[in-house]
Amino acid sequence: MADEYICKQDAVDYCKALMNAELVQHTDDWGYGKERYNQTEVILNFIENRQPADVAPVAHSRWIKTADGAECEKCGREAVYQIIDDHWQYEPFCPHCGAKMDGGKNG
Ligand SMILES: [Zn+2]
Repeated sequence: MADEYICKQDAVDYCKALMNAELVQHTDDWGYGKERYNQTEVILNFIENRQPADVAPVAHSRWIKTADGAECEKCGREAVYQIIDDHWQYEPFCPHCGAKMDGGKNG
């Protein structure tokens, strides 16, 4: 399975919110709350001490049909074809700007 990446700050924020909830919800049974608080703090420390991975955000685009072929929606450069499964098809990535051609517009 390929590695998957998440936002470190989201995980840190979530752990801190959980710890805060334990402080608020278990003041009457603090033995139980303290145990849960400490478990979450162990996970938080693990996440905070991880080295960041060398990951770049993925840019998304799509091929737009033109009069004589197609062009990348993101950079406007001409589409490139290749043979995939014995058929000429557009490249799954733009060779000019590196966008992943999955139709997205969030890149
Ligand atoms: Zn492009």
